Amino acid sequence: GWKFNEYEMRGVPVRLEIGPRDMENGVCVLVSRITGEKKVVEQANLVEEIQNMLTQVQSDMLERARTFMSDNFYSVDTLDEMKELMENKRGFTLAGWCGSEACEDKVREVTGATSRNIPFQPAEEKHTCLACGEKAKNTVVFARAY
Ligand SMILES: [Zn+2]
Repeated sequence: GWKFNEYEMRGVPVRLEIGPRDMENGVCVLVSRITGEKKVVEQANLVEEIQNMLTQVQSDMLERARTFMSDNFYSVDTLDEMKELMENKRGFTLAGWCGSEACEDKVREVTGATSRNIPFQPAEEKHTCLACGEKAKNTVVFARAY
């Protein structure tokens, strides 16, 4: 058991289990860390089976990350909205920013969030700065560091 846990902590994506009976039968068990799926495979096909499972793990992890990101992405127009959001949920917040350092500082003071990036193609264009209400120069992703 502790070996399973230790390697799971390290992020090993596929576990291969093989015992004396498996050796006799020419099989082994592959276990996906992401889905927990267990699959008995012929040792003769092991390389191909591992490659397939790794490809599946990669795709499952990407899908999970995309779902997590879209489930935790919000859009706000005012500092009050962002403050409430940051107090009640974790996540990324899209908001307009006029480009002034004073407004960036104010956002951090009030909400605890800082700018993370300026997306090339934001899901939505913001037209006013969330802190001062002036014309936004950029649509920015804000988040709190944890
Ligand atoms: Zn501003």
